[in-house]
Parts: sequence; C-alpha cells; structure tokens
Amino acid sequence: MNTAEIIQLTEKYVLPTYGRLPLAPVRGEGARVWDAEGREYLDFVGGIAVCSLGHCHPAVVKAICEQASRLMHVSNLYYIEPQARLARLLVENSCGDKVFFCNSGAEAVEAAIKLARKYGKLRGGPQKHHIVTAERSFHGRTMGAVTATGQAKYREPFDPLVPGFSYVPFNDVEALSRAVGPHTCAVILEPVQGEGGVRAATREFLAAARELCDRYDALLIFDEVQCGLGRTGKLFAYEHYGVEPDAFTLAKALGGGFPIGALVVKERAAIFAPGDHASTFGGNPLACAAALAAVESIIGEGLVENAARVGEYFKERLVDLSRRFNLVREVRGLGLMLGMELAVEGKAVVAGCQERGLLINCVDNHVLRFLPPLVVTERDVDRAVNILAAVLAEVG
Ligand SMILES: *Cc1c(COP(=O)(O)O)cnc(C)c1O
Repeated sequence: MNTAEIIQLTEKYVLPTYGRLPLAPVRGEGARVWDAEGREYLDFVGGIAVCSLGHCHPAVVKAICEQASRLMHVSNLYYIEPQARLARLLVENSCGDKVFFCNSGAEAVEAAIKLARKYGKLRGGPQKHHIVTAERSFHGRTMGAVTATGQAKYREPFDPLVPGFSYVPFNDVEALSRAVGPHTCAVILEPVQGEGGVRAATREFLAAARELCDRYDALLIFDEVQCGLGRTGKLFAYEHYGVEPDAFTLAKALGGGFPIGALVVKERAAIFAPGDHASTFGGNPLACAAALAAVESIIGEGLVENAARVGEYFKERLVDLSRRFNLVREVRGLGLMLGMELAVEGKAVVAGCQERGLLINCVDNHVLRFLPPLVVTERDVDRAVNILAAVLAEVG
C-alpha cells in the first residue's frame, strides 16, 4: 500500500483517538524510518521514548525471533525463565528488590496505585488511602492512571474518576507539605515530566517528597515510564537527585519496541501476595526476552553514557538556536529528553521539520519535545538542528 491508501484505510476503520500526522512509516533502522514511498526521515520522536535502541536493534530482533520459535506464551500459573532473568537484571541495576510485570505504562501505574492503596490499609487502616500527584503530570489513560494525571483535559471528559487523589503544583515544596499527611498512602511523581512539557523536578522537591513520605509512612513512587532506562543520561532519572523511591514504574523503552511494563518495588513495599494483582500477558516469555535483550543492550553498549554526552551537545546546540531566534523561549530537559518552549504554537514547526525529513513532536501546544533513540550521534544532532533552524527561520 502507498501512504494515501494506508491513511484512507485507517480513517475508514480505526477509531480516531489520535490526531495523526500524514505519514506512514513502514520500515526503520537505527535512528531512521522510511515511508511507503521510500522517503527517509531522521526520527527524533523515537516512538515517544520507546525506541531507545533505535529501530529494529539486531539484539532485540534476534531475541524475539528465537523466543517466538521456542515459546511465546505460557501462563503465570507457571515459572517463566525470561521473566525471572529480566527481574534480576532490573533489580541488580536499580534500588528495587522485586518486580511485577504488565504490558504498558498505564498498567504499571495502575499496579502502583493498587500497591499504594494496599500499603495504606495495612499501615493506617481504610482512611489512609489518599494519593498526591503533580499538576502537569502524565500517568496514562486507564481510569486510575488518568485520575493520577494532573491535567484536567485528560480527566474531565471521564468524570467521575477514582476518589482520593489530589494535585500539587510541580516543584512547589510548600504545596506538597500541605497536601501530604497521615491519610496519604502515596506520592506519585515523574522525576522529569514528559507529556506535560519536559520539566525536570528540582532536587528540593524530590527530597521534600522523600522526607514527607518517610514522616507519614507513605510510599514515594516515581513514574519512570518515559524518563527511565537511560533516557536522561542516567539509567534511572532518580539517580540525578540522590533520592530513592519505594517503587517505580517502567514501560516505553523497556521492551526495545515490544510492549511491556513493570513496577519495581523495594522490600518495604513488596506487599503484594498471590491474588492481589495479575495480568494474563504480564511478563510473558516473548515480551521478557525482548526486554532482556533491550536492557542488556542499553547497559552493555554504553547508551546511557551516549545519552548523557550527545544530550549535552544537543542541548548546547538548542541553546544556540534560542539565542538566534526570538520565538524560542526556553530550552530544558536532561540527557536525550529535551524540550524547546516556543512563543508560538509548535504545530507548524513539526510539519515543517517533517517536510524536510525530521520527525519531532510537540506537547502542551508550544513545547517541541525531542526523544531521539539513545544511539544518535553528534552528526545526527547536527542534521536535526540544521533542519530545525531552517524551519524556525521560516516560521519566525
Ligand atoms: C507514556 C506514559 C505513561 C503511559 O504509558 P502507556 O504505555 O501509554 O500506557 C505513563 N507515564 C508516563 C510518565 C508516560 O510518559
């Protein structure tokens, strides 16, 4: 099929839950994708932080093919070797002790919410069920995860939501201190907010969250679905802050493109017992084999260090652009999770870049978000920045 045919078929048969751009990638390799007509694009969206290894990384492709021909699925009624190996790999490289596997970011957040509610009941009775999250946060689209999400536009169409949630302005230590108390069972935060506009937490905010959770015996839960697994230049974003959570969520990059999510918990929060929570597909052999190869490659191929180094270079180049173009308000972010806030809507810039062969994304209407694969080089960044500069000159 050509692009026009793919678009037409989609419009006819797929529910329009996404505002899609007129592009249908059909093949990918590294930081590049190609459409049905063979046009090449430099992909600085990277599946929204999923394709950290680039497209079709050989180790992930091999792991999927081998596992698919051996055993794709077996129930969690039984023991699953790739699941156990993946859990060990995550635990050995993080502050966590035990892992629950699911299939997406929202499901990982749901697991975290249920964990928090059970923890509160155990430690303080039914009153201790209150969960505090941040404004501008994004935690997913299922009912619990969307309730946790601190953006009214995602929640309001689906009222009434899950009771017991409140929201504080991100990085506002005083508001957080007022919101957390004896009835709090958890505080859930993204160390670096993604969907909300690429905003990093301050050290003071995460340290205050840690201190308040300790004081009131609540769980500090970090949502690392987007910022985790090397994206920010550390394997986990919390490492930038010297603040350890009691539990954290992963998904997006975890499977190297294959759907999988995880909730990693410390011993203190390892309170799930048989029957408390489950997922038919969660931690299935195929997903875990893909994730095992993906995480081993992220760690083993130095991609965390590459994200730090190339991210630093990319940020400098974006700051240069902010000096050249008045319509750039701010450049922010960590590692290869970068945002450029514009004084105008970002839509035309995204479209202009796509026309010139560069894929980028825009969040919160006017923040360009860059989430390239962690394998990108300084040369890729130069190419992207040159395209962006040409488009900014046109739009400005
Ligand atoms: C994308 C995202 C989610 C939701 O993940 P899905 O896989 O789309 O359900 C949750 N939290 C954060 C921080 C995310 O970026």
